[in-house]
Amino acid sequence: MKGPLFDAHNHLQDYPDKAKLTEALRLAAEAGVELMLCNGTSPGDWEAVLALAAENKGVIPCFGLHPWFIKEGAPGWLEGLESFLLRVPSCVGEIGLDGGGNATDLARQEGVFTAQLRLAKKLGRPACLHCVKAWGRMREIIKEEAPGVFMFHSYGGPPEMAAEFAALGAYFSFSGAIMDKKREKLRRALLAVPAERLLFETEAPDADAPGWRAGPAGIAEVLSAAAAILGRPAEDLSALAWANGNKFIGDLSAPEGRRPKEL
Ligand SMILES: [Zn+2]
Repeated sequence: MKGPLFDAHNHLQDYPDKAKLTEALRLAAEAGVELMLCNGTSPGDWEAVLALAAENKGVIPCFGLHPWFIKEGAPGWLEGLESFLLRVPSCVGEIGLDGGGNATDLARQEGVFTAQLRLAKKLGRPACLHCVKAWGRMREIIKEEAPGVFMFHSYGGPPEMAAEFAALGAYFSFSGAIMDKKREKLRRALLAVPAERLLFETEAPDADAPGWRAGPAGIAEVLSAAAAILGRPAEDLSALAWANGNKFIGDLSAPEGRRPKEL
C-alpha cells in the first residue's frame, strides 16, 4: 500500500520506553504514515504529547481528559487544558463517555465531557470522542451541544445510529478491532458509515484486536481489512481515508498552521 497514510488515533506517549517509540515511528514512516493524531488522556500526559508533536512533524497533538481519568482532573484542569490548546494547533481529545466498568459515575463524566466539547467549539478545534455503552446519552449531548468537527474514535456504536450521527457531522474512525472475527456488528457499522466520513486508526501502542499490536505502521493492515469488508481496492480506501483525515484536521495539517505559538 502506498502512502501517505493517516492514523486517526493513537497514544504514542504510552510507549514503555524511548527505544520502542523510536522503532514504532521508524516503521510508521517506512509504511508511509505521514499524519497521526496523538491523544492525551489526562493532565499528566499533555506535556509528553506536546513534546512528541514538537519532535515529530507528522504528529498532531490532542489534549483532553478521558472519562477513565476524571479523578486526575484537579481543580483548574479545564483552564490548564485551554492553555495547552492555545500553545499549539491541536485537537481536543480524548474525551467522552464510558458506561463500562472502568469509569466513574456518568453524571460527573457528562459534566467533564460537555465542558471540553464547548471548549473545542469555542476554539474551533476538532474533537476526538470515546464512547462505550453510553450511546443514547451521547446522541442527546451531541444534538444539544452541536459541536463543530468531531469523530468517534474506534466507533463501536449501533450501525443503525451511523446515519443520524453522520447527519450531525460525525466522522467515524475504525480500529484493528474490525479484524476480530467475532465483531460482526462492527463490520455492519463500517458498512453503514458514509464514505466521506470514514477514518481509520491503530490505537497504538494498545492492542485493539486479539493478539494484534502493530504500532502506527499497522494502519496499513487496518485499511486492508476494511477494504476487504467494503469490497473496494485498498489503495483507493487509503487515499479516501487520507483525504477525509485532512478534512477533519483542516488547517492544523499545514506546516504554518502547526507552528507552536508563544503563550
Ligand atoms: Zn484512545
